[in-house]
Amino acid sequence: MSVLIEEGRPVGRAKNHRRANLLSPPGVMLLALGTAVLGCRGASQDAADFAAMRKTMVARQIAARGIRDALVLQAMSEVPRHLFVPVDAAGQAYEDHPLPIGEGQTISQPYIVALMTESLALKGGEKILEVGTGSGYQAAVLGRIAGSVFSIEIDGTLARRAEETLERLGFGNVHVRAGDGFFGWPDEAPFDGVIVTAAAPELPPALFAQLVEGGRLVIPLGDPATYQRLTVVMKRNGKPVIEQVLDVRFVPMTGEILKKKK
Ligand code: SAH
Repeated sequence: MSVLIEEGRPVGRAKNHRRANLLSPPGVMLLALGTAVLGCRGASQDAADFAAMRKTMVARQIAARGIRDALVLQAMSEVPRHLFVPVDAAGQAYEDHPLPIGEGQTISQPYIVALMTESLALKGGEKILEVGTGSGYQAAVLGRIAGSVFSIEIDGTLARRAEETLERLGFGNVHVRAGDGFFGWPDEAPFDGVIVTAAAPELPPALFAQLVEGGRLVIPLGDPATYQRLTVVMKRNGKPVIEQVLDVRFVPMTGEILKKKK
């Protein structure tokens, strides 16, 4: 396919959706009282608004573009994407583009998360390895479908933040570790599926080795400086069978893979 999806690059600054506090002290007190009284209703109203945005996102950006897997559509209509992005970007969380999540990284466009998840062809209950936890959103979507998810993030700050978010939201079957995903997670291998959410010039051998026979590995392969081809690698009789899905643009995989190139 020739469509180029802008994936890893931030496409604009997160707009600040919060209003400046222009209230006088009595105004603040009144607001505090109002919040105390209406707090619960306000929060559930917010949740309802975000749920409506999520429904629209799934219909217009995901189902309308051909994602048919019911498990994927269901998971994406349930996981609260706005709680995985920085607070001042929550209002943009359901828009049709990636968003900055800090530390120079991005959360993928919703459609790409759906496409990569669908490409794993999950039935439910699987054990999955993710490389590139970022915000933890993709891991959470996988967590709604798979039995367990093991996710590795090279940036310690992002890893800690994602772990906190996932724990707060009750994703007890998603496990995050700070480290270089190039080596996979040998103690937990083998995996029924592997997903890499950073651009790699070549397939890290340990990831293929840690995939079960018949399993699927989804990875953006190609030049990290330009664009990559979203690739599904299936393991058949111990050998890779390759299928290319779409041209995409992801942030580069760092760590050991860069050393290997030289
Ligand atoms: N899946 C994420 C988005 C991924 S962005 C989400 O849903 O939010 C790509 C992430 O890969 C970045 O956070 C980056 O720090 C991480 N990364 C890059 N190289 C890596 C490596 N070698 N091992 C693990 N994580 C890596």
